[in-house]
Amino acid sequence: MVGALVRKALAPLAPPACFACGASAGAAAPLCSSCRGGLGWLSDEVVELESRGERPVEAWAPLAYRGGARALARALKFRGAVALAETMAAQIAASAPAGLLDHGELVPVPLHPARRRRRGFNQAERLACALAQRTGLALADCLERAGPRGTQMGRDRDQRLAALAGAVRVRRGASAPREAIVVDDVLTTGATMLACSRALCSAGSERVAAVAYARTPGR
Ligand SMILES: [Zn+2]
Repeated sequence: MVGALVRKALAPLAPPACFACGASAGAAAPLCSSCRGGLGWLSDEVVELESRGERPVEAWAPLAYRGGARALARALKFRGAVALAETMAAQIAASAPAGLLDHGELVPVPLHPARRRRRGFNQAERLACALAQRTGLALADCLERAGPRGTQMGRDRDQRLAALAGAVRVRRGASAPREAIVVDDVLTTGATMLACSRALCSAGSERVAAVAYARTPGR
C-alpha cells in the first residue's frame, strides 16, 4: 500500500515508473513499452489440472509467469498495488478463450486468515472482483482456508496436495455456485486450484473451471 501511495504522491513530479524495470512508463500504463512488448502471451489453450481419481479441472491463464507479468503479480501481492487488479483483469477478459467467461460465478482462491490479516487484502479476491465488474459475472466469495498455515516451499506436489486437502472449504452459510470459475493470481502446480475444486464439487458445484493471471511454464 505504501508503494502505491508514494507512487501517487510523486506522480506530479516524475513520470510513473515501470513496475518491472523502473524505466519511465506512460501515465496510464504499469509497464514501459519494452516490458509490455516482452510479455509472454500464451495461447487460448486450456491446461488440465488433475489429481488421482478426481475430476480434472480446466485451467487457463493469458500470460507466462515471467518478466512484466511476474512483476505486476508481485506488485499486487507484495507491494499492495491493488489498482493493478484492473489491468490484470482487463488482460484476462480481453484474451479469454471463447465461452470460458460467458457464464458461471467467480470464486476467489481464499487466503489463510492470518496471511490476509497481515497483507490487508486477498489479491485473488481483488482480481476476481475486477474481473466480475468487467465481465458482468457474479462474484461468489464462498471459500475459506482452514487449518495451520504451513509453508508450501520445499514440498513436492503430492505433499502440497495432501496438505491442502481439507484445508479449503466452503464458508459456513455460503453456497457453492452451480458453475464456478475459480480465480487466482498465479497458477503454479495447480494444487490450490484442485483443492478449491474439490471443496466446491463436494458442496454441489457441477462445473468448475480455473482462471489465473499468469502461469508457470510447463503447467
Ligand atoms: Zn519496463
